[in-house]
Amino acid sequence: MTMLPDEYVDGLYAEDTQLKATAEGIRERGMPEISVAPGYGRLLTMLVRMSGSKQILEIGALGGYSGICLARGLGAEGRLISLELLPEYADVAMEHMRQAGLGDKVQYRIGEALGHLEKLGAEGATFDFFFIDADKENYPNYLDWAIRLANPGAVIVGDNVLLRGRTTDPLKQGPSVLAMREFNKRMASDPRLESTILPAYDGLAIARVKDSAAAKV
Ligand code: SAM
Repeated sequence: MTMLPDEYVDGLYAEDTQLKATAEGIRERGMPEISVAPGYGRLLTMLVRMSGSKQILEIGALGGYSGICLARGLGAEGRLISLELLPEYADVAMEHMRQAGLGDKVQYRIGEALGHLEKLGAEGATFDFFFIDADKENYPNYLDWAIRLANPGAVIVGDNVLLRGRTTDPLKQGPSVLAMREFNKRMASDPRLESTILPAYDGLAIARVKDSAAAKV
């Protein structure tokens, strides 16, 4: 029987024991099983490493699966700030990061991401890499903040941009869908960005902030 492309590709890779344990920890606690897809997790590690990013901002931690993928790509001085609404999820994420030997790389900030983004802006914080993976209605707002807090050449990645087919279904007009269409349109056409959108798994949008549009220029 023909395999689905995502299954075929995932089957080529050796089992990742840390990520497997993280996924199991999420399942055992009854948390939603909505971590980033394995292939995109590998891509996050590669993008962080290839871009030489030192400061990462993640929006939406859940149980730390993507946090592990992001932090794995960091060098010795690299740090990850992760924004998570629910304290109990951030606790689980920290436990998984520690189990993966990455606990010293991450700081969780609990509560509404938009509030933390305003504080980070007021502090003058800037980042080399953004992973947007929280409430879909706010994706356009998160994109605005990412561009505002971006160092030259910063990478912005948004997960689940296809919303399991809802983004491309004209009959779907709910707030998450409308926000995601707006996010995708802006990722594709904002003159401050160069980008691509990958349609595998649930869709991943990747942009690079042009030097002239970045916070420190
Ligand atoms: N990035 C995670 C991974 O791949 O391992 C998955 C994140 S999950 C899709 C979305 C997360 O965003 C949930 O943990 C949820 O609690 C969090 N979240 C939802 N709304 C939020 C908000 N307004 N501010 C901060 N976090 C939020």
